[in-house]
Amino acid sequence: MTDRRIRRVVVVGGGTAGWMTAAALARLVQSPDTAVTLIESAEIGTVGVGESTLPHIRAFNERLGIDEAEFMKATRATFKLGIQFQDWARIGDAYIHPFGDYGLPGGEAPFHHYWLKASAGADVGPIDDYSLPCVAAREGRFAPPAADPRALASTYGYAYQLDASLYAKYLRGLSEAGGATRVEGRIVEVKRDAESGLIAGVVLDGGKEIEGDLFIDCSGFRGLLIEQTLQAGYRDWSHWLPCDRAVAMPCASDAPTVPYTRARALEAGWQFRIPLQHRVGNGYVYCSAFLDADAATDRLTGLLEGEALNTPNHLRFQAGQRRRTWVGNCVAVGLSGGFIEPLESTSIYLIQQAVTQLIALWPDRDFDPATVAEYNRLMDMEFERIRDFIILHYHATERTDSELWNHVRTMTPPDSLIEKLELWRTRGAVQEYREGLFLHPSWVAVYLGQRVRPHRWHPLADRRATSDLLPALARLRETIAATAARMPSQDAYIARHCDYRTAEAA
Ligand SMILES: Cc1cc2nc3c(=O)[nH]c(=O)nc-3n(C[C@H](O)[C@H](O)[C@H](O)COP(=O)(O)OP(=O)(O)OC[C@H]3O[C@@H](n4cnc5c(N)ncnc54)[C@H](O)[C@@H]3O)c2cc1C
Repeated sequence: MTDRRIRRVVVVGGGTAGWMTAAALARLVQSPDTAVTLIESAEIGTVGVGESTLPHIRAFNERLGIDEAEFMKATRATFKLGIQFQDWARIGDAYIHPFGDYGLPGGEAPFHHYWLKASAGADVGPIDDYSLPCVAAREGRFAPPAADPRALASTYGYAYQLDASLYAKYLRGLSEAGGATRVEGRIVEVKRDAESGLIAGVVLDGGKEIEGDLFIDCSGFRGLLIEQTLQAGYRDWSHWLPCDRAVAMPCASDAPTVPYTRARALEAGWQFRIPLQHRVGNGYVYCSAFLDADAATDRLTGLLEGEALNTPNHLRFQAGQRRRTWVGNCVAVGLSGGFIEPLESTSIYLIQQAVTQLIALWPDRDFDPATVAEYNRLMDMEFERIRDFIILHYHATERTDSELWNHVRTMTPPDSLIEKLELWRTRGAVQEYREGLFLHPSWVAVYLGQRVRPHRWHPLADRRATSDLLPALARLRETIAATAARMPSQDAYIARHCDYRTAEAA
């Protein structure tokens, strides 16, 4: 049998996607027989945003053998217990999508059914009050979850808010230490094998040619290989997700850091606020049909809570996904594979999934169609599930104050989301699936936060009398409040364990 193993992997692009890919491949795939080369162009640069993550990143870091405290210092990161949504269903509303469950483990029906029943006849407070990560986040507190699965303090996870450029730098260090080679230069030509159509190599502006067996396209929105060369095509979802521009601008902050990202709905989109140890990341994600760049910049500048630390960074995008993210010997990872939009911080998660699936389905130089089809199926599923979840935030609004909100409120969502909404409205049930984002508590958080109240609760919740339920909920609420109150403030926790200034002083 001839040896068809992949010998040369070429990663095109050195943004978050490129360096996450290179670091994972250097750790998990590289061998004396398999070389990993990353090409990036300082002249072109990176998008320079992408600072809020999901809890899955911890598994990625662990697989790469990354020490958490060292990583947090290097990326000046804070902890993230969820996302706070302000003004989404109605102006004045606020809820948190937590990284954790509501209530306590156990119970015949999911907790929200008991909350629905109790809140139908009494003021039992928002469901956020029954989630430890929500209450801790609101109070600016953080402690790692408990290991004992019976403990209330085990009912949550956490992610990070990090400096994207420092994260790429950190991963570059890991990749190079693991044996990956970095090449600086701008790719000006992509060569294809005349017979197979596979990518054979790339040519840099100085004339140097780099050949490879497998190419990972991490070139950002331009999709240098996957689109400009292989013309994979794009599934355009902008009719459901019309925001297509962003202006980003970091600012200084003296205030205590909060362990959550804030997403505040504005007239033509929404504003993100991501607190890091040394600064706050801010941006206005907006729809260019309803607002121009100057007006968006003025609006964002007016909302900054500290001195601006940089000039505005303007970005353009189109919500959607490449029709095929793996074509021949090219796999698109990161923005080159698609971008839904930054609400719910799913892009870095999608990079992680793309790399993880690629390693799980690691090909040989035959690139058999069954492997490629399976990879594309898995990535399509990931993108579509996230797409529906994000559309829900826009569509389930009661806002009538601007053209954007009138458009998204009255549009027809995808059939797959209509089905999910129908099931929720009818009986308060979340359509379950085993693979992909998002799971049960996330949907509950957003349905209820967006004021989509089901017509009835689960019949099993009626096995519990209201006279018994109300005091039980009151006790639980108190226990959660007391548990959160015992946690240190996030700033105190960081100062003790992972303050970036201690790394710099050392
Ligand atoms: C407004 C906004 C907010 C976001 N917020 C979040 C968030 O909170 N959380 C999250 O998970 N994600 C977020 N994202 C997405 C996140 O920024 C990206 O997923 C992440 O930065 C990865 O980008 P990338 O590496 O794919 O592309 P890029 O950062 O654009 O990197 C592309 C790389 O390709 C190189 N390159 C391109 N062309 C060539 C060439 N011809 N020759 C050589 N090199 C080339 C460039 O030099 C660069 O190194 C956000 C995105 C936007 C637009």
